[in-house]
Amino acid sequence: MKWTQTLIPTLREAPADAEIISHKLLLRAGLIRKLAGGVYTFLPLGLRALRKVEQIVREEMDRAGAVEVLMPALQPTEIWEQSGRAETASNVLFKVKDSSGRQWFLSPTAEEVITTLAANEINSYRQLPKNFYQISLKFRDEIRPRFGLMRAKEFIMKDAYSFDTTDEGAMASYKKMYDAYTRIFARCGLKAFPVEADTGVIGGNYSHEFMVPAETGENDVAFCEACGYAANIEKATSGIPKTAAREVGAATEKFATPGVVTIEALSKEPYKVPANRQIKTLVYIADSKPVIILIRGDDQLNETKFAAKTGAVAVRPATPEEILPLLGAKPGSLGAVVSVPADVKVYADERLQGANDMTTGANEDGFHLKNVSIERDIKVTAWFDLRTVSAGEPCVKCGKALKIRRAIEVGHVFKLGTKYSEALNATFLDVDGSRKPPVMGCYGIGITRTLQAIIEQGNDKDGVIWPLSVAPYQVCITPLAVTPESQAMQLAEKFYAELTARGVDVILDDRDERPGVKFKDADLVGFPIRIALGEKSLAKGEVEIKPRNAALQAVKIEDAVGAVVKLLEASPAN
Ligand code: ATP
Ligand code: MG
Repeated sequence: MKWTQTLIPTLREAPADAEIISHKLLLRAGLIRKLAGGVYTFLPLGLRALRKVEQIVREEMDRAGAVEVLMPALQPTEIWEQSGRAETASNVLFKVKDSSGRQWFLSPTAEEVITTLAANEINSYRQLPKNFYQISLKFRDEIRPRFGLMRAKEFIMKDAYSFDTTDEGAMASYKKMYDAYTRIFARCGLKAFPVEADTGVIGGNYSHEFMVPAETGENDVAFCEACGYAANIEKATSGIPKTAAREVGAATEKFATPGVVTIEALSKEPYKVPANRQIKTLVYIADSKPVIILIRGDDQLNETKFAAKTGAVAVRPATPEEILPLLGAKPGSLGAVVSVPADVKVYADERLQGANDMTTGANEDGFHLKNVSIERDIKVTAWFDLRTVSAGEPCVKCGKALKIRRAIEVGHVFKLGTKYSEALNATFLDVDGSRKPPVMGCYGIGITRTLQAIIEQGNDKDGVIWPLSVAPYQVCITPLAVTPESQAMQLAEKFYAELTARGVDVILDDRDERPGVKFKDADLVGFPIRIALGEKSLAKGEVEIKPRNAALQAVKIEDAVGAVVKLLEASPAN
C-alpha cells in the first residue's frame, strides 16, 4: 500500500475528550474517528489491525472445534421475554420500532438467538457437542460510554455458545474455550490473565474473565502471587478472620451519642468504639423489596456479591424516605435490634457471625446500642460473604497477602447450565430415550476492546508499539526522495515488491514530506519495522533499518530484505 493512496490522518494533539493513552493514540495515529459518543468509524489502518485480531480469534475458535455462524443484530423481543432478560437486561438494551410499531432489540449478545436455533435444529445427542461462534457488531446502551472503544455503545464482539449433553461435557467445552482464550491473547501480544468472575445478568454458575493489567482499567482484581489465586473484586474472597468473640455482656444498653451519624465519629472521643466493634446497618431495595444488610463497621458492602449471593437482579440503596417507615429512623442511627416485618430479610456478612459486644444504631437520632450480641439480638435471615476484599488480607487459598490491581476485561467465559435451554425449550433426545435440555456455556471476547487494550499495553512517548501479529502493516518503507527516478524511490519500490512477495505487509511512505514528519508519523502509527532510504546512507551502499522497539542498524542494500525478514521471524508475537 502507498501512503498517499490510503487515509492516515495523524494528529499532533489528541482531542480533549480522549482521556487515556490508548484512546488518544487511536485518534492520533489515524486509526479511528468518533462519529458520536461511543460510536466510531474505523479508518483503513485501524480496520487492518482489527481484522488481524479477528483472524487470530477465528483461527483459534476453529482450532478449538467451534463453528462460525452469523446471527441477526435485530432480535425479536419475544425470545428475550422468554429468557426473562427483557426485564433484567433492560437498561442496556437498544430498543427499536419498525414501521408497523413492532419492537425489536439490537443484539447486545445472542444467548436467546442461538438457543432458539438449537431448539429448532438440535434434536439428538448424536448432534452434540456443538459450539457456535460469530464475530459481529453488538449494541449496548451504556450510560457512560467512554475511553474510546473500551466502553462503546456499538462494538465488535466474538461470542460463542456451546451445547453439551452432560455437565462434564460442558466443563470440557468450557476448558477448551478457556485454553483458546489463553492462546488468543498471547498471539495478540497481550499479557492477559484469567480471574474468577461474577456471572451478572448472563446467569450461570461458573465464570472467568480475562484481564489485561492496566491502571486505566475499570476492574479491580485481587490476586495472590504465591499461589496464583485471582478474582475480580466483585467475586473475590479472603481468609480474613471472623470478628473475635468476647465475654458476652448483659442485655443491650442504649447510650446517648448526640450528633453522631458515622462509624468514624463513634470511633472517636468520647465514645471510642473501634470500627471493628460496630455493626453498620444498610437498607437496600433488592428487586423492589427492602432488605437490611449488616456489615462490620470497618468493611465495605460489595453490591455485586450481595446481588449474586441473594439472587437479586436490581439492587440499590434505599432512600431515607423508604427507610423511615421500616426502621423508624434516618440513616446514621440505623440498627437491626428491632422487630422488622416478617417479609423483610436481614442479610449479614459472615465476618459478623458469632460477634458480640458490638455497637450499632438505636434507630433513634443521637442514640446507639452497646453490648449487642448479633446472634442473640438480631434475627438474621442468612449469612453471606458480602464484603469487599482489601489489599494485604490473607489469600483464601494459601494465606499469603493478597494484592489488588486495576485491569481491563477483554474476555469472559461462562458455564451457563440449562438456564437458557430450559427457558427457550431447547431439548435433545438422549441415548436412553429421555428428552433433556442441553448444558450450555457462553464465551465472549471484545474484539474492539482487545485492540485498544493492545495499544494501552504497547506504547511509548512517540506512539503505538504494535505486536507484529496485529500491526496494520509490519514494515514501513520510507524513501526520503519520492520522485520516480530517484534511487531511493526505485529501491523502495523494489523492497516493496520483494517483501510483499514474501508475504510481509508493507506500506510505502511515498509522501513528499520532510524526513522528520515521515519518521514521526511512522513511529506514531507504530509500524514494527521502518526502512529508511536516505541519500547519505545510499551513497555508502546502505539503508537504515529501525525496529520500532530497538536500535537502528545500517545494512547493505543487498542485505536489507533478508535482514528485515530475519527480524520479523525473531519477533515474539508473530
Ligand atoms: P463490562 O463489565 O466491561 O461492562 P460485560 O461484563 O458486561 O463488560 P460481557 O457481557 O462479558 O461484558 O461481554 C463480553 C466482552 O465484550 C467483554 O469481556 C468486553 O471485552 C466486551 N464488551 C462488553 N461491553 C463492551 C462495551 N460497551 N464496549 C466495548 N466492549 C465491550
Ligand atoms: Mg463480562
